[in-house]
Amino acid sequence: MAERLVVFDTTLRDGEQAPGFSMTIEEKLRLARAIEALGADVVEAGFPIASDDDAEAVHRIALTLERPVVAALSRCAPGDIDRAAWGVEPARRGRIHTFIATSDLHLSRKLHMTREACLEAAVAAVQRARGYTDDVEFSAEDATRSDMDFLCRVIEAVIAAGAGTVNLPDTVGYCTPDEIAEFFRTILSRVPNADQATFSAHCHDDLGLAVANTLAAIGAGVRQVECTVNGIGERAGNASLEEIIMATRVRSDRLPVETGIDTRQLYPVSQLLTELTGERVQSNKAIVGRNAFAHEAGIHQDGMLKDRRTYEIMRPEDVGVPQTTLVLGKHSGRHAVQKRCEMFGLTLSRRDLDLVYRRIVAIADRRKHVSDEDLLEIVTSVRGVARRAAADHSLHEAGYGFGV
Ligand SMILES: [Zn+2]
Repeated sequence: MAERLVVFDTTLRDGEQAPGFSMTIEEKLRLARAIEALGADVVEAGFPIASDDDAEAVHRIALTLERPVVAALSRCAPGDIDRAAWGVEPARRGRIHTFIATSDLHLSRKLHMTREACLEAAVAAVQRARGYTDDVEFSAEDATRSDMDFLCRVIEAVIAAGAGTVNLPDTVGYCTPDEIAEFFRTILSRVPNADQATFSAHCHDDLGLAVANTLAAIGAGVRQVECTVNGIGERAGNASLEEIIMATRVRSDRLPVETGIDTRQLYPVSQLLTELTGERVQSNKAIVGRNAFAHEAGIHQDGMLKDRRTYEIMRPEDVGVPQTTLVLGKHSGRHAVQKRCEMFGLTLSRRDLDLVYRRIVAIADRRKHVSDEDLLEIVTSVRGVARRAAADHSLHEAGYGFGV
C-alpha cells in the first residue's frame, strides 16, 4: 500500500527569496492559486516578519486559498510568531512554521546562543504557536550539520510541546543521498516520540543533489517534502517539485508514495512562474525544460515513431506539455513549420524546410490536422531522401542539419 506523501510548496517563500524571483502581492496570489490547482497540500506563503508586504501577501493568500494548508514562516521569537499568526489567521487551515538553527556553527557564530538556550527557545516558540493553531511545524535549521544527540533532544522536546511536523533541512545542500537516509533513519529510531510527528525533508541544490536527497529521505521514512516549482530557491535552489513528483510517479515501484498532485498542471505552473518572474528554466531541465521531450537524433526519432516507449519514460501530456497538433491551412507559413520543428530540437536547412512544408500543405489539403508524428515522419523521410542523394553524388550541402 502506497503511503501518503505531503507536498509542501515553498515557491512563494524560499523560492521568492532568491535573486530575480521577487513578486508583487498580485503575482503571488496568481501563483498561489495555480499551486492550489496543482494540488500541493501545504503552501508556504511567506515570512511575515520580514516585511509588511510579505505579511500582507500571506494574509491575502490565506483569505483566498480554499483547500491547502497555508503556512507562514517565523523565527523562534514571540514577535515573529505573533506576526505569522496574524498572516495565516484567515486561512481555513493555517500553519505556523517556526525555525531555529541547531548546529553549533550557527549557534555560536550567528545566534551567539548556547544549546540550552536554543532548546528553550524552540519549545517556547512551539508552545506559543500552538496557542494560535493546532498545526505547528518546527524546523531545525542546518539540521544535517547538527550534533545528533542534541538534535534528537530538541526534536523530542518540540514534539512534546505540540509540533505535528518536524522539518530537518539540509540548509546548505551538503548531504549525500546515503548520508541523509542514514540521518533520518537514526532520528526516527532514536527519538522516543517520533511516531507522533510527520518528518519532513527540505533539501538545497548546492551540489545538485536536492532531489536525490529528498528521494533518499522518503526512502528512510520522511512523509513530507519541501520543494519549489522549477526548483527555485536560495542560492542553487530547492528540490524541484516537478522532479520529485514525476520520480515518484514513474518509479512508484521504488518509491511507493502517493501525492495529491495533478501532474498535468506541472508544466502550466512552471510556465506561469517563468511568465511572472521573467526567469526562464534551462532548456535541458527535467520535466519542464524546452528540450525535456525533444528528440533530435534520427535514431531516436525513428524509435519514437515506431513506439514512443523506446525513448520516452513519460508522456508530455502527462505533465501538461501542450499537445502537439500542428494546425496548418492554406495560409500557414514555413515559419510555423520551422517553429514546430525547433520545439523538437530539429534544425532544417532551407531546402529541407521547403520540402517538408510542401508535403505538409499537401496533407493539409486533405485533412485539417497535421500531427507531430506526421511532421516527424515527413522530416525523417525528407532527410532520408536527401541523405541518400547526397551519398550517391558525394555531395555535402553546407549547413545541412542532419542531426542524426
Ligand atoms: Zn531553504
